[in-house]
Amino acid sequence: MPRPCFIANWKMNKTLSSARDYLDILQKRLSKPALQNGEVILAPPYTGLVSLHEGIGRLSLEVQMAAQNLYFEAEGAYTGEVSATMIRETGCQYVIVGHSERRVHFGEKDEEIARKVAAAQIAGLMPILCVGENEQQRQEGKTLSVIKHQVKKGFYLGLSHGHASQNGPPDLSECIIAYEPVWAIGTGKTPTPHEAEQVHCEIVAYLKSEGISPQEMPRLLYGGSVNERNIAAFMKERHIDGVLAGGASLSADTFVKMIELGLDAKGVLCTY
Ligand code: PEP
Repeated sequence: MPRPCFIANWKMNKTLSSARDYLDILQKRLSKPALQNGEVILAPPYTGLVSLHEGIGRLSLEVQMAAQNLYFEAEGAYTGEVSATMIRETGCQYVIVGHSERRVHFGEKDEEIARKVAAAQIAGLMPILCVGENEQQRQEGKTLSVIKHQVKKGFYLGLSHGHASQNGPPDLSECIIAYEPVWAIGTGKTPTPHEAEQVHCEIVAYLKSEGISPQEMPRLLYGGSVNERNIAAFMKERHIDGVLAGGASLSADTFVKMIELGLDAKGVLCTY
């Protein structure tokens, strides 16, 4: 079973001092064995990365960090942007790419997202590719085709030329795919765990058809209004390896509870 993964996407929230308080709570409340069985990833705004990394080190916490975005160019005249190498240098291991808020509010398109995924991998960052259908696509029964398209574009799969075919299928074992229905993000609405599981199964089937071996499969997370009340039901699904939480993750106490409930649902909660 892949190591269950819990991502806290703070979006544009938290000052440096509130981030420090958050870490203190994680340190007090998350047991070391629980952290060994699960992977906890905090995604603060760019400005919090360096001090969060220092705080994690100071408290000897086994917690990873993700940036919420990156730019695909390595350096240059791109005012306001941050490259993969710069993010890597802060101590980050992961980067979120193609979050629906970036697709919707900042007009990010599949091509740009694919370049960001590739730039992250080149710099040694593990991409967390977000995919998800919007309300209209769901109502029109297009969920699976939208998800497949976004996964295919994001990882340059199914090309007759390009890096996928030149080097064989890419190794996605270091990547994460987060299935996040756009209509579920920040709305309190969710698909049923079974519906989310079906989408995850389709992603696995699609990746298999592209030649990705079981050892090279990315972990698959669900995201969209996950909270203390519903996390266990999602985590009980076989192909849901973890969650990406936004609003509910802003409270460290709630996030700790969610991690415990998620590990318990997977049968790997160990507190001694
Ligand atoms: C998210 O930010 O990716 C997210 C899933 O947010 P929320 O949990 O608030 O729906």
